[in-house]
Amino acid sequence: MTPKTFAALGVRPLINAQGRLTRLGGSIMAPEVVAAMADASTSYVDIFELQREVGRRLAELTHNEAAYVCTGAATGLFLTTLACMTGTDSEVLAQLPRADLPKNEVVIHACHRFSYDPAVRLAGATFKEVGDARETAPWQLEEAIGPRTAAVLYLAGEVNRRSALSLEQTIEIAHADGVPVIVDAAAQLPPAENLWRYTRDLGADLAIFSGGKDLRGPQSSGLIVGRRDLIDAVFVNGAPNPYIGRPMKVGKEEMVGLLAAVERYLSLDHAARLAGFEATVQGWIDAFIGIPGIHAERAWPNEAGQPMPRLLLTFDPDVLGFDANDVRHDLWEGEPRIAVGSYGEKHLYLTHAESDPGARGIYVTPDTLEPGDAEQITERLHAIIRARRRA
Ligand SMILES: *Cc1c(COP(=O)(O)O)cnc(C)c1O
Repeated sequence: MTPKTFAALGVRPLINAQGRLTRLGGSIMAPEVVAAMADASTSYVDIFELQREVGRRLAELTHNEAAYVCTGAATGLFLTTLACMTGTDSEVLAQLPRADLPKNEVVIHACHRFSYDPAVRLAGATFKEVGDARETAPWQLEEAIGPRTAAVLYLAGEVNRRSALSLEQTIEIAHADGVPVIVDAAAQLPPAENLWRYTRDLGADLAIFSGGKDLRGPQSSGLIVGRRDLIDAVFVNGAPNPYIGRPMKVGKEEMVGLLAAVERYLSLDHAARLAGFEATVQGWIDAFIGIPGIHAERAWPNEAGQPMPRLLLTFDPDVLGFDANDVRHDLWEGEPRIAVGSYGEKHLYLTHAESDPGARGIYVTPDTLEPGDAEQITERLHAIIRARRRA
């Protein structure tokens, strides 16, 4: 069903079978979240007091010393970098963005450089890379940390491990020099326990989560958890304080919306959710058995490395006369519009107008779907395959 606001603009909705991607609308807020936001939108409030109390409650729920709501995980990278560079010193903050900070380097594994890098550099930090695409030795991290190091930034998740040291070892080496470790865990939910695993259990100083991914909180929200003194510094750097964090303001609606999302997330039966995703993927596999030139299998984990299954459907162009790009194109252009991932060379950052030169198949995710979507996807795929074969 097309939302009225989209229809009025002539903008088509879509079924998201690709992932919690911002460019596809991120996620659909849980009803509890919408209700909390609507409720908070009816009154004025002291925004500092609300931010503090929401943070206190979020810290309790996530077993952390402190917590803070920001406008997204990318803002979380910006604010935590600033916090590690400036602390709570408002005289220093008032000089930004033009100040020569004594600590302005963020150490990062070379294999963890990623598309959200600019958020860290926007804070005025420069990256110092350790290791390479093949391996990282502990001595390399030890050597990279020096008097100018503000923090070590670590990208969580098994798919991001590659040639990096383990988080445990990274923390041990950084802490030996008194340097804080920031964990970007934006997409590392589920499991819900990750909300406290990186910080309370493994000892990282700060961890950042996206509010608009599996949490199904406000699209423009993010959660920072960790050490109280550093969250205090995040608080001072953040809006509505008059420093460089001011453009990234978070509203009262996002604050209570994210709190409602975390409360809900912690009450979900995650085993039942996972069983549901497995059943959806198995249903898809069964629907494509015996079609010459097409192979269906369960892929694991998903594109963000979350412990959830997805469907990998591959197409043999020699048998079929069409390829995976054709199918992805038809899904995007057809009715309803359906977004899926590409199993090829450029899968994650490919737009739907682009063709993926090495594409051999498509990835279809179950966890982003609304009721009825899975069946519609099967029907559309069968129709596309029939039409393309006749052509
Ligand atoms: C999604 C993501 C972000 C950005 O999250 P937003 O909440 O959209 O700002 C940052 N880092 C990683 C690793 C992500 O997956």
